[in-house]
Amino acid sequence: MKAFGFDFDGTIINIEPEKALVFGDIVNKYWEVNRKAAANYWCKKGGTSRRAKFDYFYLRKFKKKLKDIEYQKIEQEFSGRLKNNYYPKIKLLPKALKTLKFVRAHFGFVFVSSGMPLAQIRYLVNLSGLSGYFDLVLGTSKKYPSKKEHFEEIIKSKKPDLLIYLADGVTDMRIAKELGIISIGIPTNRPASELKEAGANYICNLDQSVALIRKILETDTMLN
Ligand SMILES: [Mg+2]
Repeated sequence: MKAFGFDFDGTIINIEPEKALVFGDIVNKYWEVNRKAAANYWCKKGGTSRRAKFDYFYLRKFKKKLKDIEYQKIEQEFSGRLKNNYYPKIKLLPKALKTLKFVRAHFGFVFVSSGMPLAQIRYLVNLSGLSGYFDLVLGTSKKYPSKKEHFEEIIKSKKPDLLIYLADGVTDMRIAKELGIISIGIPTNRPASELKEAGANYICNLDQSVALIRKILETDTMLN
């Protein structure tokens, strides 16, 4: 079976810049972290879990681990602001639907692997009207601390003979490389050079992605 994973934010929609600003605002308010430094960190760490980004600044400031209960309080404020201010205005990136339709028609298993909390990515996929395109929507949780666990589970349970991940974060490319997954980097929020350096197999804009995926499929058929 052929499997295809989509990162969500930065590839199908893009509210990463807004999330970075809200993150900066909140860690500034609670932990007096410099807003701009925090927002930059958020952008650079695309592909990591939301929790990991909060953990980083908490550890730096207080030299101890962020407790679940404290994280939950702060995360609630973060997601509440996103839900109220940004989710209602969300638009799909141009050509995202064309890519989704092509992938749905050519792959046996299509999923989302997002660093957002599980319940929130499911809410967002529903809100965008895209649930019908995916067999599975995965976010982060206790069971899935990072995207790596998503892929490990999919490799184990589906045993795909072809697995492609389309994403826009540096960490996304690193995880794909580590697990031998074919990665397509979309330079929505980070320059192509950074994605390439992190191990991206291919780099293209979303509007070139169908042609690229078609080419990968053809090569795969020829080889097998
Ligand atoms: Mg992303």
